[in-house]
Amino acid sequence: MQSVLERAGELRDYLSALRRELHRRPELALNEYGTARVIERELDKIGVAHRRVGETGVLGIVQGGAGGGAVALRADIDALPIREETGAAYRSETDGVMHACGHDAHTACLLGAARILSERAVGFRGEVRLIFQPAEETGGGAADFLNSGVLDGARRVFGLHVAPDLRIGTVGITPGLNNAAVDHFRVRIHGKSAHVAAPESGADALYAASQLVVAIQGIVARRTSPTEPVILGVGKFNAGTTYNAVAEYAELEGTTRTISERARLEMRGRIDETARHIAAVSGTEAETVWTGICSALVNTPGACTEAGSVARELGLAVVENRPLSLSGDNFAEYLRRVPGCYAYLGTSNPAFPDTLAGIHNCHFNLDEAALPFGAALYAACALRWMRSECP
Ligand SMILES: [Zn+2]
Ligand SMILES: [Zn+2]
Repeated sequence: MQSVLERAGELRDYLSALRRELHRRPELALNEYGTARVIERELDKIGVAHRRVGETGVLGIVQGGAGGGAVALRADIDALPIREETGAAYRSETDGVMHACGHDAHTACLLGAARILSERAVGFRGEVRLIFQPAEETGGGAADFLNSGVLDGARRVFGLHVAPDLRIGTVGITPGLNNAAVDHFRVRIHGKSAHVAAPESGADALYAASQLVVAIQGIVARRTSPTEPVILGVGKFNAGTTYNAVAEYAELEGTTRTISERARLEMRGRIDETARHIAAVSGTEAETVWTGICSALVNTPGACTEAGSVARELGLAVVENRPLSLSGDNFAEYLRRVPGCYAYLGTSNPAFPDTLAGIHNCHFNLDEAALPFGAALYAACALRWMRSECP
């Protein structure tokens, strides 16, 4: 029988066309209605059953023979609020929205894998669950799938992400910790308005918020171990209404990145405490609201060994020492329930300088020669796990 990689190679034009179609019409988190319809259209063409999960998630099921277990494959499908500056012929047609994180490529690769797996479904028992997940960028998209029981009885879960730091023909597979836990915080500071010439009659929310921005960096510098990476970043700050009045209200938003559950909870407590104390000495009041975005992403060592051997059989070079990233990915939530692997697919090519830009960059692009590798990796990992009695 033809190899998985050969079949994926035949799908090269199909994968590129699909990726470009999705790239032209990027959609933000939880608005992926058109994207979901494209996914359903492609699954219908090959007779793969599917259903919606939430409003814009799609679950496809490649059904093998009776009995057997289940393996889950996940692609994220949402885009970012970034104005594309690549100049590509297939660039975004939606102003201010761009597939700058490669989720168009993930979606195309998983649809390619759906073709390969449906052609080989007589060769395994059980089912491969194809998770087309919305809202990775905002963190919420995994919950609907997990609550729907998508991992019930699954023996492995696999996902991949494009990686411009890795060359085409390579894949990064790191056992254990890969990405940080991500939280979002919003601090609202309520003060009292006054004429700037009579500050003693007001309570300056802007001044308190400014002190807080500086003070929380001291938490990292003086209250956390230098051996454990922690990031506290404030990315948004709004305060005041005019130059000559004491600001009644200030609001700031930021994020924490931690790698242990202990540090994650500790940071929440320290920021809350710092905000309260600064508010108290400035005569204002502070309230902090936390939103958990995702857990730390921890790959299962055994599943990484298995995925690594599959990747080598496909002719990919496996990079095992890709540095820890303090970005986050809610694939972490799947890995907390089922053993699995999240792999980084090399997409850069020095011959094409536009493939060297990082993700979340308005110039981001990728070498589409990576798409057959991605489709083959999804399919071959699933086949490996469906056919073997892995623990
Ligand atoms: Zn991404
Ligand atoms: Zn992203």
